Amino acid sequence: MEKVSQIFENARKEGRKYLLEPEAKAVCMEYGIPVTKFRMAKNVEETTRFAEETGYPVVLKIVSPDVIHKFDVGGVVLNLKSSQEVRDAYNKVMANVKKHKPDAKIVGVLVQEMAPPSTEIIVGATKDPQFGPALMFGLGGIFVEVLKDVSFRIAPITKSDAREMITEVKGYPILRGYRGEPPSDINAIVEVLLNTSRLVMDHPEIRELDLNPILVYEKGAKTVDARIILE
Ligand code: ADP
Ligand code: MG
Repeated sequence: MEKVSQIFENARKEGRKYLLEPEAKAVCMEYGIPVTKFRMAKNVEETTRFAEETGYPVVLKIVSPDVIHKFDVGGVVLNLKSSQEVRDAYNKVMANVKKHKPDAKIVGVLVQEMAPPSTEIIVGATKDPQFGPALMFGLGGIFVEVLKDVSFRIAPITKSDAREMITEVKGYPILRGYRGEPPSDINAIVEVLLNTSRLVMDHPEIRELDLNPILVYEKGAKTVDARIILE
């Protein structure tokens, strides 16, 4: 809890309400929410070294307080398999960001393990003016964006609330496995929901939280992108 408060305090001191991805992921880790392994690199040499140490394939992402949607500005490159690919991607990310947002302050490049493709889910938290923090669950992509197929509960939630949130979305059968796809680890999703509930209850200074997406496997789950906005 203290480490989380420190991260928030540090962002506030720098006049930021949006946490950087490594900050948001560090907060998640404090609450037992699984995230992809990551390291912050300051230059191309560090980037290639960290990629080597992480093990291929890796993902590179821009880290900037001025870039909220990293993918949209060409600030995310996936599935890099060699030191040369990493070097090229580093230059590409820098060039893309300079083109789309010339005055963006660049903090560094996040090197992370590439999570194997799987079913994507989204867990979010917003604040209801009357009832306080509300949790959201949905399947990733078109399920949330087009079909608005999501469930909500006011925090804090119990284990059975978490289970209900998962089973009541229309896309639930996808999590149970279909067309030979393996079933997703429902218990791992329950844990993420419970831990997110604990996090927002402990920290009312969180205005908005967005774990989007979380990849869910037969065993376990991994958050590949986390956003936290403070009051
Ligand atoms: P944005 O800031 O645009 O939301 P993300 O960090 O979510 O950027 O990255 C964009 C997309 O790239 C994600 O929705 C996900 O599909 C994929 N992605 C990002 N990081 C990883 C990773 N570590 N492993 C696998 N896929 C990833
Ligand atoms: Mg994202």
